[in-house]
Amino acid sequence: MNQEVRRVVIIGGGPAGYTAAIYAARAGRKPLLIEGLAPGGQLMMTTDIENFPGFEKPLPGPTLMSAMRAQAERVGTEIIGDYVERVDLAARPFTLHLSGGELKTHCVIVATGAEAKWLNLPSEKEFQGRGVSACATCDGFFFRGKKVAVVGGGDTAAEEAGYLTSHASEVLLVHRRDELRASKIMADRVLANPKVRPLWHKVVDQILGNDEGVNGIRLKDVRTGECMDVELDGVFVAIGHAPNTALLGGQVKLDGQGYIATAPGSTRTSVEGVFAAGDVQDSKFRQAVTAAGTGCMAAIEAGHYLDEHNL
Ligand code: NDP
Repeated sequence: MNQEVRRVVIIGGGPAGYTAAIYAARAGRKPLLIEGLAPGGQLMMTTDIENFPGFEKPLPGPTLMSAMRAQAERVGTEIIGDYVERVDLAARPFTLHLSGGELKTHCVIVATGAEAKWLNLPSEKEFQGRGVSACATCDGFFFRGKKVAVVGGGDTAAEEAGYLTSHASEVLLVHRRDELRASKIMADRVLANPKVRPLWHKVVDQILGNDEGVNGIRLKDVRTGECMDVELDGVFVAIGHAPNTALLGGQVKLDGQGYIATAPGSTRTSVEGVFAAGDVQDSKFRQAVTAAGTGCMAAIEAGHYLDEHNL
């Protein structure tokens, strides 16, 4: 691997990483982007994107991501398909240990994203993108006038269920206990919504469907073990997200929920010269457009850092 010290390395090939690359490249920083083993990130699982501004018609997630990637390359980003196993941020320049060698850089933008937690049922995988989703904001629109279920009892589940009531005819809220974990205000609001029907003490045993997609759900009562089938059109899994921070090995401060902590209104992390963008630092919005926005911020802040240190 080339032994020159890079000025800025971006870890992650999602909207945050590609946007950071576009800005850093256009600012003449010659960025290197390491896009990992699953380039494109979570959007690669989205069939139609309708809320990314600039596209009149819905476009598939992979199409948007390959366009962002091509744009980043065209303006001068070097992109490699490797995987960062760990980083050493104690000494400067920083060292990144990749599966294919190591490299040194003055500045790092971490844009490794997050992953929705799934129930890990084979049927859930089978129907992903065909009635099974982990993002109501992304896919709720496709369930206008239909019946859906939201699985989970936290703030995400409450928020997703509430959001879905503006599209769906009925929203079943499937929770394994009889009390929501969500904050009281969000729990009260969602349970007061006439379109929401909570199903307590239930877990998903199987998602049912055919070639057309999901057409039902088999729920198991955790107290009795009894199963019941319910007809519906969509299942939203909302049992939390896990940010991809393992590569940092505890060297960058995380917030109480395990996301990278950034200074308010900034992408600066606890380590000078390390910036974080996208879902790895955002437990709240988790949208492609907000990820792209923080990617832009990270590239600009990284540029200021390089200038201030004459790097
Ligand atoms: P949480 O970890 O808070 O909740 C996860 C929920 O899913 C819990 O109710 C849990 O059940 C349930 N669950 C977990 N695993 C399974 C499983 N395998 N099968 C069935 N159910 C399961 O995650 P959230 O994403 O809801 O929230 C994460 C953080 O983000 C929270 O701090 C939250 O406050 C915050 N947030 C804030 C929002 C806001 O303020 N607008 C919006 C969204 C999130 P159990 O309760 O039994 O453990």
